[in-house]
Amino acid sequence: METKVDPFENMVKIVENAASKLGYDKSVINMLTHPQRAIEVSIPVRMDSGEIEVFTGYRVQYNNARGPYKGGIRFHPAVNLNEVKALAGWMTWKCAVVGIPYGGGKGGVIVNPKELSERELEELSRGYIRALAPFIGPEKDIPAPDVNTNPEVMAWMMDEFSKIKGYNVPGVITGKPLEVFGSKGRIIATSLGGKYVLEKAVEMFGLKKGTLKVAIQGIGNVGGGIFKLFSEDPMFRVVAISDSRSGIYDENGLDERVEEILNHKKEKGCLKGISNVKEISNEELLELDVDILIPAAIENQITKKNADRIKANIILELANGPTTPEADKILEKNDVIVIPDILANAGGVTVSYLEWVQNLQNYYWELEEINSKLRKIMIDSLVEVNRIREQHGVSMRIGAYMLAITRVVKAMKARGWV
Ligand code: GLU
Repeated sequence: METKVDPFENMVKIVENAASKLGYDKSVINMLTHPQRAIEVSIPVRMDSGEIEVFTGYRVQYNNARGPYKGGIRFHPAVNLNEVKALAGWMTWKCAVVGIPYGGGKGGVIVNPKELSERELEELSRGYIRALAPFIGPEKDIPAPDVNTNPEVMAWMMDEFSKIKGYNVPGVITGKPLEVFGSKGRIIATSLGGKYVLEKAVEMFGLKKGTLKVAIQGIGNVGGGIFKLFSEDPMFRVVAISDSRSGIYDENGLDERVEEILNHKKEKGCLKGISNVKEISNEELLELDVDILIPAAIENQITKKNADRIKANIILELANGPTTPEADKILEKNDVIVIPDILANAGGVTVSYLEWVQNLQNYYWELEEINSKLRKIMIDSLVEVNRIREQHGVSMRIGAYMLAITRVVKAMKARGWV
């Protein structure tokens, strides 16, 4: 039977699998599968209608053995506590895989931000921070953008926290605009980090050179970002891309139309009505005959139901949790290489880390410096994960978890927690 599609249960399964391969006992596994703190808050917002609506928000602080909690805030109607717990866990493993000195956390608000006016959105963003102010801070817990939140939202949040403190606290939030203590390269960082890892993986696994066909699920900051990067690189040809409603396909490639497509999405809010492309569904996109498949949207897209029909050689998981454990088994049997989320999409939090370091030292770097640091961290991490994969005969995902868990457990041991 397909796993109940609960991202937290799915994450726990993988942690248990990787931790048992490392020989950790029940006590350690218990520590790894329980978040340290889960906070639920009510956020009242005076709507444009004059009425007060109360939104529910969460912040889960999963583990801080290796450093302050770190992770984004998601605004989405499907947000729920178990999802935020899974996302907070994934942040913990992600930061450990790339070796940056953070634990993991995540936040979310149950809301469809597309239905809010700009003023309502600002009120909600500020209200979220007021509710959580006692629990966050540059040394405690550092939020950032995630699905449906962006630099503008981060600026309001940083400003609200700074007002509460009475002085500027740039290091409380990352993913800020450049004008207010942001870092060069942060917006594209998740996409660029993914591309660095992908290029190295193509070389490592000896995949055919020449143009590689790519399908991208998702056209948000991350999916749209890697579409742009690929359109400038002859090694890749993007043949399909989608949003939450539908997708477009052209076997000759969409790269030359990247600006037109991104503008269409921005103006019309969807991908419908673009000329001379084939309209496809999200399900069809995942099963296209391509070399590389990039899920860059939300969880549980590749499941037991469609995994057997996936034709790509490599799946680069820019989304968090796009593949269920059952699907993983099928993909492994079919020799599909999965570059797991906690490695593939770690570029975002890596440049968040660099932003935070710049905030703390009040000294700002050039883009070249940021990108060369990002590249080194991503490639070194891939090489290390692959070494563990070969040594233990496991998948890339289990290899990445083994690396992450080893690092977190070492820190917990040194602190006397286990
Ligand atoms: N939301 C992004 C992620 O899932 C970035 C988190 C951050 O920069 O803290 O990795």
